[in-house]
Amino acid sequence: MQGLVITADKHLYAMSAEARPVEKVRSGDIVAFECLDALGGQIRSEADTVANIDFSRVNPATGPVFVEGAEPGDTLAVDILAIDTASTGVVLSVPNLGILGDRVTAPRTSIARVGRRWVELEGIRLPKAPMIGVIGVAPREGAIPCGTPGPHGGNMDTREIRAGSTLYLPVSQPGALLALGDVHAVMGDGEICGTGVECAATVTVRVRVVKDWPVEWPWLETEDDLMVIASADDLDAAAREATSQLVEFLRRRCGYSFDTAYMLVSTVGDLRISQVVDPLLTVRASIPKTYVEGED
Ligand code: CA
Ligand code: CA
Repeated sequence: MQGLVITADKHLYAMSAEARPVEKVRSGDIVAFECLDALGGQIRSEADTVANIDFSRVNPATGPVFVEGAEPGDTLAVDILAIDTASTGVVLSVPNLGILGDRVTAPRTSIARVGRRWVELEGIRLPKAPMIGVIGVAPREGAIPCGTPGPHGGNMDTREIRAGSTLYLPVSQPGALLALGDVHAVMGDGEICGTGVECAATVTVRVRVVKDWPVEWPWLETEDDLMVIASADDLDAAAREATSQLVEFLRRRCGYSFDTAYMLVSTVGDLRISQVVDPLLTVRASIPKTYVEGED
């Protein structure tokens, strides 16, 4: 069966209730999103740098898609079925961007070759691990640029948002209004210099409306782990929010006292930095699903 395809020309630069849906789907439908890279396809060779791109065309997200039956207070589950990348990707070193941006004297572009299993960057072979940088729904209020993460999702740059995972997003507007983009063929925790291997891609997902698990922040379920992804002005605040969300979840789901849940996340949970280069910084708190399953 040929599923629904949203072409890359149908994209937005901010997530908001005002964004006009480009398609309507039902809970359970499979949708393929064709995505430009995070530079909007403006960098095609190593002669192109950030010095000569239009920044109003950075971080496009394909969509938004209206999911019938998704109402404020619900959760939108997005099963990530496949991420098919283009055969090249872009990595940028940019003055004043990233942790060591003060040491970058001139912008530089590296074009990576992206194969089926490997990425070749600066003559170095890296294992390919495609993931989605930007994925979210319309926020409770206002318009949030696609470059910013938040409770609505957005630019979370979290490595485990990959094929095989399920992302759970809090629905704030009728139809949820799902959009996604900023695919990386591979990216390290932190996205230290400000880019992963930025790729155009086709992302195939199944959307499901979940009525019985309201969430405040995006949650992600991988094969082994359950994690919550929180963003804030600094890493300390993001770590505190993610930890607090995970502890409260374990209290509700498993009936633990605060102390037990707190000790459990300290002993078998993990805090990881997702990214430190976006307008808000992102941390995820995870726990193996074996400590969660079978309790509800
Ligand atoms: Ca990003
Ligand atoms: Ca990116």
